Amino acid sequence: MADSKSFERTLVTSALPYANGHIHLGHIAGAYLPADVYVRFKRLRGERVLYVGGSDEHGVPITLTALKEGIDPQEVVDRYHTANADSFARLGISYDIYGRTSWPLHVDTTQTFFKTLDAGGYIHQESMELWYSEQSERFLPDRYVKGVCPKCGYEDANADECENCGAQYTPRDLVSPRAAIPGDSSTPVLRDSRHWFLDLPKFTDRLRTWLESHPEWRANVRGIAKGWIDDLKSRCITRDTDWGVPIPVDDPGAAGKRIYVWFDAPIGYVTNTRQWGIDAGKGEDAWLPWWKDAGTRLIHFIGKDNVPFHAVIFPAMLMGQGDYILADNVPGNEYLNIFNRQTGKSEKGSKSRGNMISVRWALDQFPADVWRYYLCANAPESKDADFDWDDFMHRYNGELCDVVGNFIHRSLTMTVKNFDGAVPPQGPLDADDEALLAAIPAQVDAIAESIEEFRFRQACERFIDLGRKANVYFDTKQPWVTRKTDMERTGTTLHLCCQVVHALCRTMAPFLPEGAAKLADILNIALPQGGPDGGEDGWNAAKVSLPAGHALNAPAVLFPKIDPDRIAELAELHQQGGAN
Ligand SMILES: [Zn+2]
Repeated sequence: MADSKSFERTLVTSALPYANGHIHLGHIAGAYLPADVYVRFKRLRGERVLYVGGSDEHGVPITLTALKEGIDPQEVVDRYHTANADSFARLGISYDIYGRTSWPLHVDTTQTFFKTLDAGGYIHQESMELWYSEQSERFLPDRYVKGVCPKCGYEDANADECENCGAQYTPRDLVSPRAAIPGDSSTPVLRDSRHWFLDLPKFTDRLRTWLESHPEWRANVRGIAKGWIDDLKSRCITRDTDWGVPIPVDDPGAAGKRIYVWFDAPIGYVTNTRQWGIDAGKGEDAWLPWWKDAGTRLIHFIGKDNVPFHAVIFPAMLMGQGDYILADNVPGNEYLNIFNRQTGKSEKGSKSRGNMISVRWALDQFPADVWRYYLCANAPESKDADFDWDDFMHRYNGELCDVVGNFIHRSLTMTVKNFDGAVPPQGPLDADDEALLAAIPAQVDAIAESIEEFRFRQACERFIDLGRKANVYFDTKQPWVTRKTDMERTGTTLHLCCQVVHALCRTMAPFLPEGAAKLADILNIALPQGGPDGGEDGWNAAKVSLPAGHALNAPAVLFPKIDPDRIAELAELHQQGGAN
């Protein structure tokens, strides 16, 4: 079993969001927030860590959007790349690079992958029957054709799968096909088209051995991956489209075809690492150790729908390159569904239902930490979770504000007021004091253990739990009473409270970066930034006491409470489809 301590560096990726729409909270809970918490934790620990993300900018849905709007596909991806990069930045998702698969460098990386696989005998050609429009004189890839589902009769089914019942079928089985592009709703005909295929079955044994070497992975991820590995088929890696990476072959049959988006998207992680090295002034080869040195630990954060690509197909593509490392873990989350207050039922977030909450809208309502707290405390890790407005308010108000925020505020206010704005001296300790002092390092280690094991919900609970213990201590010691009779005892109580506040500041930093930065200012401490080159350990520094006499700044409320009336308004707006 892999222990992160035995690695020299950690490379973290989050699934590349598709640049054809705005990212929403479901995406964040799946692949982005957990990755960001993990990366921020590693940086604070002083470990060498690199966080790579970016937009997935190829594929048929993008060209369809462009056709409908009468614009170039590049304009579509420019719009959503910019908007999503902005949403991530506002939410504090701290990528070292947020790249693009439409970058010229990506053509080079992708073509190199293709050529190496081809030279290794992993790529072959097959002829396929595909829908062709005689009116538009072109092949019609998947979503360019609609028809009636052969299974359920749904009238708006895609050429290869039905959105309504989830059935997958060959184009020939689609009933009453029609072209579905602006200006063309003609009846298409089936024609042969030659395509390139990745010979996945050749990787079966190696994939199985690799998967079996990772019993520590989540059961859901292992289950999905095993199902795929047991039944691998060759997979088409080219498409009849002019938007994508050109196929690097000298063959007239490649005209009008491009590399299929599922193949080039994960290669985007490599491209973006290359670009990061160049942008950071570290040179063109700076990416190599991150992808080819056995001392690197590679972690892919994804949503459940992406498990086959990250736990089977991309690893096979990496194996076919010969000298790449493979993922050491693939923490795949389940789904964040939406709780519908009218029906009292949980439902999937979907564009057509209009029930999704976009990140840009969410951040216009509340600051990043509010969302980050709820999405982490309610993370869909081992099973689906629901987004519910009342639960959102109760957990934020009742846990973060009432437990942690309240403890920090009353401790610091009393300290600053009664002890001249500095940490008071520590006098003789009693059993309560000893127990609280012992709880600090224990809880800091417990939170670290949860994060290392990708249990972010549990990490949040343990963080709140430290606040709970401290509140019990504060209420037992009653410094507002002892202040009138025994200043030494009061000083000891608040000295210890300052130590807990200090630990809370450092342990909240991965989850709640804005709150941690504000609190660090009040505590007059510096939180190290860390990064790809590593740095000092600002996490375990939580176990080191702030000395008596350490000057504090004026306290301020870190986590203001949410007003129930505001929640009622937003829930109503959301119900009407206004949260996009
Ligand atoms: Zn169907």
